[in-house]
Amino acid sequence: MARYRRQILGLDESFWAKAARAAVFRPLLDHQPAVKAELGNVRRQYADLQRLWLGRLDELKKVKWQPPGFEFLRECPPFGVRGRWASYPCSRSLICPFCYGRRVIDLYMRFEQAVYKTHQKRVEQAGAIHTIEPTPCKLVEVTAWQSWEQTKPPGLILHSLRGMRRIVVDAVPRRAAALLIQLYPMNGQWQMSRRHLIMVDPETAVPKAYEEAGLFVTEHTNVTRNVIVKAVSSVFQYPKAMMLGPADEVAQILQASSKFRCFSFFAASNRQPKVVEADPSRVEKNLSGL
Ligand SMILES: [Zn+2]
Repeated sequence: MARYRRQILGLDESFWAKAARAAVFRPLLDHQPAVKAELGNVRRQYADLQRLWLGRLDELKKVKWQPPGFEFLRECPPFGVRGRWASYPCSRSLICPFCYGRRVIDLYMRFEQAVYKTHQKRVEQAGAIHTIEPTPCKLVEVTAWQSWEQTKPPGLILHSLRGMRRIVVDAVPRRAAALLIQLYPMNGQWQMSRRHLIMVDPETAVPKAYEEAGLFVTEHTNVTRNVIVKAVSSVFQYPKAMMLGPADEVAQILQASSKFRCFSFFAASNRQPKVVEADPSRVEKNLSGL
């Protein structure tokens, strides 16, 4: 095994790093809620995460999941900290907790950009972080769960989602939206969750069709950076079963989803949601098919 060298020298105190740490640490490290984000604690948490990750890679290797550059995955650098390491991100964000954290950072920044019309990094550089007011809006979490028998190949399940990606986000006039599709093993079945975060105007009502279709809806109002952190880290939590579930089933999912785009971001849509306006029954029909 290659010698693992990295040094964490400082903590990134930004909102995006907080969002990513909450999304990855909370489901994977049990002691996280009681631990303050201080350098010593966060170093320990990264070390724990690294141990979990190396253990997962060993198990995946045993079940013959060894994509090109497999050894490289062991060296994937952390997110949300400053430091020294001699490796590049592996980009396997479906399973790598570090690259997953980087995806969450990207999603956080996109929402911050949509709410503040700029993001923290640029404002900090200009030395005026607190002078920009957020756009009045609300953030709506919409989540759906579904499970299948494991006799159905995971590739077919993912394939069946093609063309359904936009149904939920197009049902409401949005300012921005993101979707994450997660497939993972759960109690001997394939479980899929589709997680959306949608930014809408404060007066926009959540379509009734969501709840009628059995989707789980939570609204966040008075949106500030802390609210974006809360919403992003809750919607886009790392799927624990990918790290701790049966390795052979996880390997099948990784194999099937290697070319599947699980994260999507949707910019503002100025069009009225034609399905809801023109024919409310149609969106219900569409949603009920999900
Ligand atoms: Zn990685």
